[in-house]
Amino acid sequence: MTASASPRLVGARDGRFAPSPTGPLHLGSLRTALVAWLFARSQAARFLVRIEDLDPLRSRRRFEREQLDDLRAIGLDWDATPVRQSERMPLYESALERLEAQGLLYPCYCTRAEIREAASAPHGELPEGSYPGTCRSLGEEDRASLRAAGRPFALRVRAGGERIEFEDRLRGRCGAVVDDFVVRRADGVPAYQLAVVVDDADQGIGEVVRGDDLTGSTPRQILLARLLGLPVPRYAHVPLVLGADGTRLAKRIRPPALRDRHEPSARTLALLAHTLGLALGRDRVARPADLLAEFDPDRLPSGPCVLP
Ligand code: GLU
Repeated sequence: MTASASPRLVGARDGRFAPSPTGPLHLGSLRTALVAWLFARSQAARFLVRIEDLDPLRSRRRFEREQLDDLRAIGLDWDATPVRQSERMPLYESALERLEAQGLLYPCYCTRAEIREAASAPHGELPEGSYPGTCRSLGEEDRASLRAAGRPFALRVRAGGERIEFEDRLRGRCGAVVDDFVVRRADGVPAYQLAVVVDDADQGIGEVVRGDDLTGSTPRQILLARLLGLPVPRYAHVPLVLGADGTRLAKRIRPPALRDRHEPSARTLALLAHTLGLALGRDRVARPADLLAEFDPDRLPSGPCVLP
């Protein structure tokens, strides 16, 4: 892929789109990708694509290929060959070692059902569904007997019950008390929260633009970046796209505009642009770059978008 033609600005906020290849992209994901691209390119910054394929059971190369094709079909470009998280394990392992060396990790033997049950009781300021800390102060003896019983364990970070706030470019002030969240899953796979923080820092991402279903994860990621001594990016969480019935679009819904491959980009792009308040009155947009002159992050719609 070619770099953007405009000269790179000093202090530009590099951006990225980081899909999980677990299904086809739906229109909402494409719209988020377009917004992330517009943020980066309007600042003459780099735009990267990262394949978040850490879940071995759900990730498929076929979906990765289709997702990249769909991004290309609406005319998006990126500055380097996309990296795959599955090929970056040493980076995540070294981050885990750094946390471990600071005494910040502990093994958690809880099953999902146990967590659900314990998390349903109120726990002070922690948001609903948070981990209540069951395994935080297990003694060595208890740990040894759980290990001996063959109970698999995840690694959780000691978050210290801190409230983390941040200023979202699209949603304003956001924040939450952070629970002791999982950084390595019981199957040994680094957790999304860890990998995303390590990768954004490693790839020099200055502005994370993504779907607002991840707003709730951001305080955890900011905490993790601080614990690892990594820079904290700026965040912009893009409101979700809802189907005509008001429910979230599921990944399995293939964007209808992309099913017809004859002329996918111009119409799909115009449709996506309209939902962002751009290119109104045009039913075709040849390239995303044609939207740059009009694009203003402060004028993006702040509510969820309902597709006709
Ligand atoms: N891989 C995540 C997803 O597809 C997005 C992660 C991110 O943008 O931080 O939902």
